[in-house]
Amino acid sequence: MKTIDEALDIVLDATRTLGEEEVPLFEALRRVASRSVLSPIDIPPFSCSAMDGYAVRGRDLDHDGLTFEVVDEVPAGTVSSVAVGAGCAAKIMTGAQLPSGADTVVPVKLTKPGASDVRVGGRVCVVRALEPGANVRRAGDGLARGSSVLGPGQGLSPAHLGLLASLGLGAVAVTVRPRVAILATGSELVALGEPCGPGQINDANSIAAYGQVLEAGAEPLLLGIARDDRDELRRLLKTALEADVVITSGGVSVGELDYVKEIQEDLGVETRFWGVKAKPGWPLTFGVCGETLVFGVPGNPVAAMVSFELFIRPALHAMQARRDLFRPCVRATSRDALKATKERVELTRCRLFREGGGFSFARAGSQGSGVLHSMALADGLALVPAGHPGSEPGAEFGVLLLEGASSERPPFPD
Ligand code: AMP
Ligand code: MG
Repeated sequence: MKTIDEALDIVLDATRTLGEEEVPLFEALRRVASRSVLSPIDIPPFSCSAMDGYAVRGRDLDHDGLTFEVVDEVPAGTVSSVAVGAGCAAKIMTGAQLPSGADTVVPVKLTKPGASDVRVGGRVCVVRALEPGANVRRAGDGLARGSSVLGPGQGLSPAHLGLLASLGLGAVAVTVRPRVAILATGSELVALGEPCGPGQINDANSIAAYGQVLEAGAEPLLLGIARDDRDELRRLLKTALEADVVITSGGVSVGELDYVKEIQEDLGVETRFWGVKAKPGWPLTFGVCGETLVFGVPGNPVAAMVSFELFIRPALHAMQARRDLFRPCVRATSRDALKATKERVELTRCRLFREGGGFSFARAGSQGSGVLHSMALADGLALVPAGHPGSEPGAEFGVLLLEGASSERPPFPD
């Protein structure tokens, strides 16, 4: 049995990064930038008003109570052809380009009274003087042309996509997504949407893995369910091995019908480890077949998800050359007394709370390795070291978050 750290090293050593491609922004969420992007333009591209109000020459505003003649109206999206001279103002909307001559905007609330409806030819009174340049966004204030907006390895969020669109870029260079074949194994399993017969249960692992794979920016390929039958398993695993990554669930423990490891090896998978000192999730197998990474995660749904969190997510991030391979890890004090496991790190599903300047956590329901309900309630996995004597409330542990990504490798206890 490997420690979590040893197993993670073996997995990361076996990963390779895939190529790159350009994709439209609408397909780029959660993808990983493969190149730096420099801004081709200034943001904003022209000096514009930050308020609805009146554009004037700043130097005219040297005392309170001055009156200006309104010479033009400038809605957003239009450009004024009238220059603003001494004692003049152009009525202007937020986001509209500043007319020539003007460098300052007097917001409506500093004009007298109800002056938002003054028309061209009318006069507007400014109640209070302003600093020249006030309420104007100057060209390049937000982002100067030529500055770096993205680096290689950056996972793309909605904000990144909005930023690229604001620069007029409709596509972005990203790394190729790993294709991940997902195969559930077990004669008791029934596909989503089909009724369960006697002794049967619904397949939960396929869809949970599907979600985890998507969230990691990769492409899930659902291969369905293989019964505990050597020939069926062999046929489906052979197809699965055409992907970049294979995730099978179930059939890797020590039961008489647990054929997964045996059939993988028959098909040429070189096993790199079998067994990790983690609870839940000990009977994980990992191997390689050519360039394909092959993970056999345990069948218990929480064990399967935890194995993904510990090993498969970092591998998928690494294959996409992401900078942040890991989940963030925080220190938190336990609100509960915790028991530990003799030879394995116990990953306790927990809810996290802000407390004082830091965090505390509480166990999230039953910790059985098949109890997905507590996984669904959990914000994180508290890492209780193997052989820990058990603890009173108030003891501190590392908690691996179930959201976000970090470039810092979590300090896994042995
Ligand atoms: P195994 O690892 O095949 O021995 O399975 C361990 C436990 O997980 C058994 O109770 C299985 O019924 C259950 N299990 C296996 N695969 C799935 C699945 N895809 N969805 C839900 N439960 C599963
Ligand atoms: Mg099974």
